[in-house]
Amino acid sequence: VTDWQGKHVTVAGLGVSGVPAAKVLHGLGAVVTVVNDGDDDRARTQAAELEALGVTVRLGDGATLPEGTELIVTAPGWRPDKPLFAAAAEAGVPVWGDVELAWQLRGPDAAPWLAVTGTNGKTTTVQMLASILKAAGLRTAAVGNIGVSLLDVVLGEEQYDVLAVELSSYQLHWAPSLRAHSAVVLNLAPDHLDWHGSMEAYAADKGRVYEGNRVACVYNVADKATEDLVREADVEEGCRAIGFTLGSPAPSQLGVVDGILVDRAFVENRQKNAQELAEVTDVNPPAPHNIANALAAAALARAFGVPAKAVREGLRAFRPDAHRIAHVADLDGVAYIDDSKATNTHAAEASLAAYESIVWIAGGLAKGATFDELVAKSAQRLRGAVLIGADRALIREALARHAPEVPVVDLEQTDTGAMRVAVREARGLARPGDTVLLAPACASMDMFANYNKRGDAFAEAVRELGSADG
Ligand code: ADP
Repeated sequence: VTDWQGKHVTVAGLGVSGVPAAKVLHGLGAVVTVVNDGDDDRARTQAAELEALGVTVRLGDGATLPEGTELIVTAPGWRPDKPLFAAAAEAGVPVWGDVELAWQLRGPDAAPWLAVTGTNGKTTTVQMLASILKAAGLRTAAVGNIGVSLLDVVLGEEQYDVLAVELSSYQLHWAPSLRAHSAVVLNLAPDHLDWHGSMEAYAADKGRVYEGNRVACVYNVADKATEDLVREADVEEGCRAIGFTLGSPAPSQLGVVDGILVDRAFVENRQKNAQELAEVTDVNPPAPHNIANALAAAALARAFGVPAKAVREGLRAFRPDAHRIAHVADLDGVAYIDDSKATNTHAAEASLAAYESIVWIAGGLAKGATFDELVAKSAQRLRGAVLIGADRALIREALARHAPEVPVVDLEQTDTGAMRVAVREARGLARPGDTVLLAPACASMDMFANYNKRGDAFAEAVRELGSADG
């Protein structure tokens, strides 16, 4: 689309993506109508701001397609099975998400995109990638699902050489024409299945990240589903499939040899068949899943031509975000670890694998997940479990099936004080040398505003325990 003048665009959903999208489209001369399910105070304030500009806003009616709509721009979180999209399909109206809009408006011209998706590790990998690109002297930013609007970035004043882009499965679902320089699907495990409808649909949306790649499709050797997605993708001629592995790398792979991250895909010196990039101990923290993230970031950076030295410097400079295997305190020889960001079973499995004897705090919103595999794999490591939140019965039942001897505390309480009780109960189960691990394997929204608040509540409860002792 180049001529927006007079084009009738419906923006689905106010909020972090809808309000900026409506403003930009209005500024381009489109006739914009915003539809929004909710009609609360926040929505009214946002609506008033847009109405003052001349945008039409319909509160409390996100289902009806406005007359004359030629394009829908949707908030990424809106489920594809919503009635609005059925109406759009019937009327032959295309639907774009916020990422598609950014791409269509100026995506390819702003800077090449190095795109990262996957069930877990996206934010960490994108931050590692940005750190590596910066170490190479490139003008870059970590953007997208990480909380930085692509629309702002591609239309903003600042110039970039390359962007490190985190994309969620929702964003990819609504971004049909996106074409990255190179991309990675880090891993694939069931998540958000209620939204996508099935594992197949979820995988297909993740796989869109490879469509039209120019230089490299990076996949996880240990996760065959990611390699399958590369094989199915329609890419530019000359685009290479590059694997990463925690083992020794084959040609066209990055991997680990004797504690060194090694690149056999992008070799600088033609005399050699491998390029050393960094030491495992340069990765922070050097847990297996995080070394995999570092290899994926390195692969994308190398696809963009970044030298080995910058990979090492960038990894060394990287610090993980809060609530990702964060050490909160040691009390009576028990370590308290906050991995509130483990919002699905695959992430929780990675953090449970990092400790030996664990009192596990878990539960929340399961989002359609099952817990048998996670519990069966982790049963040996569990000293006890404290279950919280709406779907805790699912975890309790899995524990009864696969770890019947593990003591379980089942907390009915869901108010703000519940985490304090959970931590106290966990302390009661723990022995010196154990780890109390908040790795909920579930979303937080039944009890908390988000995973940050859940992690904060945990850390605060731990600190209270500590000070009550003192
Ligand atoms: P995302 O942005 O995909 O949610 P994060 O980097 O924020 O991913 O990490 C989320 C959680 O997933 C971490 O707290 C950790 O428990 C887990 N995790 C991180 N990287 C991986 C990985 N490569 N494989 C499995 N789990 C991971």
